[in-house]
Amino acid sequence: MTSATPSIFTRIVAREIPAEIVFENERIIAFKDIAPQAPVHVLVVPKTEAYENVAQLAAGDPALLAEVVAVAQQLASEHSTGEFRLVFNSGPSAGQTVFHVHAHVLSGPITEGSLGF
Ligand code: AMP
Repeated sequence: MTSATPSIFTRIVAREIPAEIVFENERIIAFKDIAPQAPVHVLVVPKTEAYENVAQLAAGDPALLAEVVAVAQQLASEHSTGEFRLVFNSGPSAGQTVFHVHAHVLSGPITEGSLGF
């Protein structure tokens, strides 16, 4: 569902808020997390804010979810070893704070404590 006010990630897509963008195509943008939890911590974000979480995205546009995963792999290979942890927080009690679906790509040595794990 699209809310009345654009999400913070939509505002990054629109260049209204600065971000360190590392990938962009027609449907996806990726940028460095402002509060990194690992040596490489990138957010891979579908540009549409039609989906709040990964389950909605999987049901509504599975090809776009597959594209998010492919971009995660590409960025982990470009910025790190190619090995990565992919996290989708879904719901406030799971730690989600931005309700515009996004994947956290964590790479480099992952220490316990990254995103609460
Ligand atoms: P989540 O808690 O899973 O919803 O993830 C939201 C993530 O967005 C957090 O890891 C924040 O650090 C990150 N974040 C919030 N605002 C920005 C921003 N302006 N630029 C980059 N990352 C951001």
